[in-house]
Amino acid sequence: MRTPCEKSVAVIGAGIGGMTTALLLSHKGYKVTVYEKMPSAGGKMRQFRFADCTFDAGPSLITMPFILRDLFNTLGKSLEEYIDLIPIEPLCRYFWSDDSQFDAYADPEKHAKEIAQFSPDSAHHIQRYLDHAGQVYHATKDIFLFNKFEGIKEFFKRKNLPFLPLFPKLRTLTTLHNFHTKKFTDKRLIQLFDRFATYNGSNPYKAPATLMVIPFIEFYYGGWYPRGGIYAIAQAFTKLCAEYNIPIHYSTAVTKITTHNNSVQSLTLDNGETISYDYIVSNADAYWTQKYLLGEKPFIPELSSSGFVIMAAVRKKPHTLAHHNIFFSDNYEKEFNDIFEKKIAADDMTIYISISSLTDSSQAADDRENWFILVNTPADGGNNTWQYISEEYWKKIQKKLHDFGVELYDEDIIEKKIITPDNFANDINATGGSLYGGSSNSPFSAFLRPQNISKKYDNLFYVGGTVHPGGGIPLVILSGMICAKELDGITQR
Ligand SMILES: Cc1cc2nc3c(=O)[nH]c(=O)nc-3n(C[C@H](O)[C@H](O)[C@H](O)COP(=O)(O)OP(=O)(O)OC[C@H]3O[C@@H](n4cnc5c(N)ncnc54)[C@H](O)[C@@H]3O)c2cc1C
Repeated sequence: MRTPCEKSVAVIGAGIGGMTTALLLSHKGYKVTVYEKMPSAGGKMRQFRFADCTFDAGPSLITMPFILRDLFNTLGKSLEEYIDLIPIEPLCRYFWSDDSQFDAYADPEKHAKEIAQFSPDSAHHIQRYLDHAGQVYHATKDIFLFNKFEGIKEFFKRKNLPFLPLFPKLRTLTTLHNFHTKKFTDKRLIQLFDRFATYNGSNPYKAPATLMVIPFIEFYYGGWYPRGGIYAIAQAFTKLCAEYNIPIHYSTAVTKITTHNNSVQSLTLDNGETISYDYIVSNADAYWTQKYLLGEKPFIPELSSSGFVIMAAVRKKPHTLAHHNIFFSDNYEKEFNDIFEKKIAADDMTIYISISSLTDSSQAADDRENWFILVNTPADGGNNTWQYISEEYWKKIQKKLHDFGVELYDEDIIEKKIITPDNFANDINATGGSLYGGSSNSPFSAFLRPQNISKKYDNLFYVGGTVHPGGGIPLVILSGMICAKELDGITQR
């Protein structure tokens, strides 16, 4: 730890990004205070316990575990002392309505064996595709993910010049779906790889093919699960905050940021108290921060999707599901058209089910399982309309599962809880309930996404999934690292 620099920092929100920034700044000697409107930390990474089951209500899969390890190393801590990460194989079990089924593996041998059975002619297509995607990832990661992003300027920086010849490989002007139609002949594989656009809430029929880096990352770095639940990550972060003596004021919402010329001066809490800080870091949704805390009219690009979540404590009975499962809709294009163009809950929906108790028996009593069911929806939360359609939509999902041979009737469920886009909007202040802020549905998304340093105020910073480099746990941790580095860079000038 560096000698205390006496500079004070307020972090608004104890999401993963907010806590990452708080820890790194505290490690550098800043006096950090965190304000969190919810009664617990973690933000979208939430945990529910009921009916003798434990549920992760947000993220269910962790990729790029080396980023988590880098954070712990920077803090001089050992990741293993705090979090026990388990690799999950198969990465995911995919189901189609024609009864075909495919298990995706990170392990190359298991993957080869599975693909030889599923679609023998596609083995070399997949290999060539992942090789291409790997080249794109390695060429672009330092520009788009691991450092601050300065827009078009990045392409004129000396350090990035070697990347320029690879630029056509990014296929920025082709959609992910069109790229896949050229790479694969098996329609099921086109759909399987298209689905990775949803990892940041995007539409594969609009998002650029550059998103091919997402499946590469999953196949190359694997899919991971922390023992005790994904929430073990949030718990480890709060433990670290306690070790650093970082106060987290729970159930305390920030209601206003006061500015003067080009600086932010203080924040006001929901108890009326106003406190001055040298720096303010907002981990709340950036558009929400600008609109409601700064009183501005932010430019909001097309939002990423939201989600309809059902957590069900299910009576144990035989089934063929794995830890992660996908049940595909029959018309993927129509499903995305419903979500992003018509902005309605898709009639024929793709269903994701995660049952972490299959990996970790601590997550459910012996006679039950903790089913987390997620369906992508439009980011239409905040109007409190979901309460009228929730039960009806759940029935449609049950019917769809039945068509796949998964019998999940009300009598199989001991207790369930539903989370809707309205909950994401109202509980966490996510604009429209969107899970990842702006979508990546345009080749210019990286340019449109808010940066970590405010353009307007010298001492205001943003961190989290709605700002650079984007959503998902690994990127949000990177966002926290970039934010802390930029803030400290200003102090050191
Ligand atoms: C259903 C679902 C599934 C997901 N699946 C995955 C997955 O499998 N893998 C993956 O990597 N990622 C996944 N994600 C995305 C991931 O959870 C998020 O990208 C990440 O958690 C966002 O972190 P954040 O730092 O942006 O903060 P957030 O989680 O958005 O937290 C922001 C915090 O700020 C607080 N706050 C807001 N306004 C105020 C205020 N005025 N005053 C005080 N506090 C305030 C909020 O209460 C919240 O705690 C999923 C998300 C959801 C919801």
